[in-house]
Amino acid sequence: MLIVRKYGGTSVGSAARIAAVAGQVTELAGQGHQVAVVVSAMGDTTDRLLDLAREIAPTPDVRELDALLATGEMVSTALLAMALRARGQPARSWNALQLPIETSGFAGRARLERIGVAGLREDLARGLVPVVAGFQGRAANGDLTTIGRGGSDTTAVALAAAIGADECQILTDVDGVYTTDPRMVPQARRLERVSFEEMLELAGQGSRVLHLRSVECAARHGVRLRVLSSFTPGPGTLICREESTMEAPLVSGIAFNRDEAAITVADVPDRPGMAHALLAPIAAAGIEIDMIVVNAPRGGRVDLTFTVHRDDFRQALELCSAAATGCDGARVSGDPQVAKLAIVGSGMRSHAGVAATLFATLAALAINIRLVSTSEIKISVLVAEAELERAVRALHQAYGLD
Ligand code: ASP
Ligand code: MG
Repeated sequence: MLIVRKYGGTSVGSAARIAAVAGQVTELAGQGHQVAVVVSAMGDTTDRLLDLAREIAPTPDVRELDALLATGEMVSTALLAMALRARGQPARSWNALQLPIETSGFAGRARLERIGVAGLREDLARGLVPVVAGFQGRAANGDLTTIGRGGSDTTAVALAAAIGADECQILTDVDGVYTTDPRMVPQARRLERVSFEEMLELAGQGSRVLHLRSVECAARHGVRLRVLSSFTPGPGTLICREESTMEAPLVSGIAFNRDEAAITVADVPDRPGMAHALLAPIAAAGIEIDMIVVNAPRGGRVDLTFTVHRDDFRQALELCSAAATGCDGARVSGDPQVAKLAIVGSGMRSHAGVAATLFATLAALAINIRLVSTSEIKISVLVAEAELERAVRALHQAYGLD
């Protein structure tokens, strides 16, 4: 098989860890596989570099910041290539300027456009393991760029697509994708396989195992993704296209996100253009709005509730309050202590009663549902943050995931 393997920061966090990774890669290559490796910066290197930059300048120049951050991944590629060679496994490190990994867009959040694979193909044909720096790219003007925090997963998937790898393996500190966060629900189970659609919903709703962008990239290019532990061997979780022969489970997993805040505008005149007037200033400030609900009108007035990231709460509340002064009589209030949970499963497409179980379970616990939003394979609800844990545990059991 042709395999792209990505090792995250903790997996290459020390010289000893890098040596262990070199051992794993050598073993994989020894089994007859062609292997290309993508690495993140060692441990918390990227955070340390960011702190250092802020000590030098409160708002560091963006070009130089990218030049600085890109060094983290260059250190780990060179060290891993050395470790492989020291074990007798030929290897060569590659950075984004060498390959190149071409990007477009803004510094600090560039988009991957194209990866030059000629050098990689040559390495693979000659039995070398290419070790590629994740997270970085080259702008059209030749500058180093970075593609956003946690971006190495996306580099690995894009590389797998570019060289037509059979599988892209993401090695991390957990041994797969779980039915929910095992730190909250000890009964959580590792999933054997998850479809791209389910993984997109799980990642979008708060599961942090894989970066959302990397799943989007894998789905778009049909790259088989596997999440594996770099510490304990095991089959991990396969993320791939949904197979028609496979009976989809009703609910595959429960994701949650504590970083939500809700804003309600009560007594908004029930006229066209009101939602636009209230929400446009928030969007213009670059604040992402997540869930939105408008209730049925009473006496010519409606209530509009929406959620934003908790970090954006204050600013969104101010912008919305200012906008509401133009909507005669509308009153704005907010609650930063809310959390969102989402149940996700491809089986929902063809089964009724999934929502009924959700509502019955939360009703039995006297947990108030503040907002509901759905997609074909997901139902998410907003609850008070203090109720989140009870809700997730009960639902995990109710859907037979324990
Ligand atoms: N080192 C980068 C970060 O910490 C990229 C990554 O780890 O994926 O964000
Ligand atoms: Mg990192």
